[in-house]
Amino acid sequence: MPFTIRENVPLRDFTTFRIGGPAAFFCEVTTEDELGEAMSFARETCDGRFFILGGGSNVLVNDRGFSGLVIRMHILGIHFSDADAAGRVLCTVGAGESWDTFVATCVGRGLYGVENLSWIPGTVGAAPVQNIGAYGVEVGSIIGIIRAYDTETDTFVSLAPEQCNFSYRDSLFKKIKNSKGQARYVITQVVFNLSANGSINNSYKDVRDYFTKKGVAFPTVADMREAVISIRTQKLPDISKVGTAGSFFKNPIISAEAYAALRAKYPDLPGFPEKDGRVKVPLAWIIDKICGYRGISKGGVGTFQNQALVIVNNGSASFAEVATFAAEIVLKVKEKTGIVVEPEVQYVD
Ligand code: NAP
Repeated sequence: MPFTIRENVPLRDFTTFRIGGPAAFFCEVTTEDELGEAMSFARETCDGRFFILGGGSNVLVNDRGFSGLVIRMHILGIHFSDADAAGRVLCTVGAGESWDTFVATCVGRGLYGVENLSWIPGTVGAAPVQNIGAYGVEVGSIIGIIRAYDTETDTFVSLAPEQCNFSYRDSLFKKIKNSKGQARYVITQVVFNLSANGSINNSYKDVRDYFTKKGVAFPTVADMREAVISIRTQKLPDISKVGTAGSFFKNPIISAEAYAALRAKYPDLPGFPEKDGRVKVPLAWIIDKICGYRGISKGGVGTFQNQALVIVNNGSASFAEVATFAAEIVLKVKEKTGIVVEPEVQYVD
């Protein structure tokens, strides 16, 4: 499709929550030049107000819509280097590629690195923004270099992982803004460090249980992908059928003292020690066992029966209904545990 800017485009059709009003302006970019043109348009017509849409799988768009330019990232391409003597392979990927298509391509070549991150919706460009992670692997740990458009200087820059401030579901890209208060960097390409002779990370119980049940003693990358897909599809709703943005909140990381105090009250509360001495607690457990909110519905919105961290649109939910329901959960968790939880989903309004 040639580069065109359309007006009044309904965003609900581009989000997995299936919620959201129109974008005042909307375009799809397939090259870095088109991205440059789109940014000029946003500066000239919308006072620099823009929003980058990837797979729309981690956003909650207001029913009022978005008053600036929505840019749908569609820069594609997956290119592998030859393996070096140590088996290292670099993979250069366009930001608009589907994350799971990329993972499937790597696994198909028997390359190690991204197999634990199978079946996560969204695009390659969105993955570093929230430092996606699953089953003991975070994307920040396998990134070689990120190419991005710097909206402050209108130039393309290369960022090394050390510059990206990766932490639990967080990065520089979520926080740093330009002088107009908009995202400073727009990721256009990511280079990943993969390996032709790595090893499997099966540190998570769900994964080990899966292999034990299947009788797989030495899993390959393909086995790991199959395991993750099997576990995830049992726990999570099918986004082709149910409106949702997956896990709505981040799992909280609390001090060891706060965790000990909560364990005294709730002896079964799981906890996973972090390197810095704090403890990560599964919020789904708290929402389910302490707050009693698993599988409940209020109007058009509810929590998913198999995973309480997931908020679902039962068909007709509005932005306000989801935001109110999410705020109710935040309040309940705070009342019962003192923990202040943060959304993983990005609000667009
Ligand atoms: P789960 O496997 O039931 O785990 C629940 C919580 O316990 C998570 O905070 C997880 O940490 C932690 N945990 C479990 N086993 C652990 C271990 N051996 N070592 C350290 N921490 C451990 O979670 P789930 O909700 O079904 O999700 C499965 C995986 O997909 C999780 O890793 C989750 O983070 C990931 N996920 C990622 C995204 C995203 O990146 N956008 C969205 C949804 C789910 P971690 O969160 O650090 O794994």
